Amino acid sequence: MHSMMRVVDHGDVQEIELSTPFSRAAGVKISVFLTGDTLVDTGFPRAAPVIARLLDERRVRGSVVTHWHEDHSGNLAVLAARGVPIGLTDATAARLPETTRLPFYRWVFWGHAPAPPRFEPYCLPDELEVVPTPGHSDDHRAIWHPATATIFTGDLVLGVRVTAVLADENPRQSLDSVRRVLALEPVRIFDAHRGLIREPKGLLAAKIAWMEDTIGSIEHLIDQGLDDRPIRNRVLGREDSVGRISFGQTSKLNFVRAVRRTARTR
Ligand SMILES: [Zn+2]
Repeated sequence: MHSMMRVVDHGDVQEIELSTPFSRAAGVKISVFLTGDTLVDTGFPRAAPVIARLLDERRVRGSVVTHWHEDHSGNLAVLAARGVPIGLTDATAARLPETTRLPFYRWVFWGHAPAPPRFEPYCLPDELEVVPTPGHSDDHRAIWHPATATIFTGDLVLGVRVTAVLADENPRQSLDSVRRVLALEPVRIFDAHRGLIREPKGLLAAKIAWMEDTIGSIEHLIDQGLDDRPIRNRVLGREDSVGRISFGQTSKLNFVRAVRRTARTR
């Protein structure tokens, strides 16, 4: 399937937008970013030829991966085959085998990854720092460039109201992670699916307020003894197209279930 690439020049940061016909039809794109000569994330497996071309055309000293999902870690083999060092955590490495056998809809969008390769570990340059931001996945982290107050947030932000989540997401952790990012006072966010978000503090504050409010409303209805589906319908509404495209893998019901599941540990 034909993957496309579009490079957006942000001056000090190059944004490489990746998409496939299916993802474009669904209005979904994903970007990887070159900051200095560090590549943040690697894109999805179907974009392997595009990433190979990028490595031919640009100097990439190493890559850092925000989290294990296949649209971020999908081209580790392409990098490893060219000897490009890769920075990822043990927690991320432990989940990589799952990207070789994905649920159907994720295969359609992104393709299966080959077996996780052996690779050289990448030591981040001094100007970049890792910020742990679990929640969307347990291994999720952001990459912070203090000199320009710029942060690469992977799938942490996406928007103010993210109502449909994966089954193993933890919205309470995401909320803490968004607070951690706002505390850094970033002036630019590079979001894996939205691209550049300028002056993001207002958006982050709005997201925090919405998440606090939503989690609080769900907790209140749990305390009143309601089941997950009626709580979903009252707080988040019925499933929309995201839930249908993913055959329920990404859903509003998952959000409610996660709040209930994590209630004991709060
Ligand atoms: Zn993800």
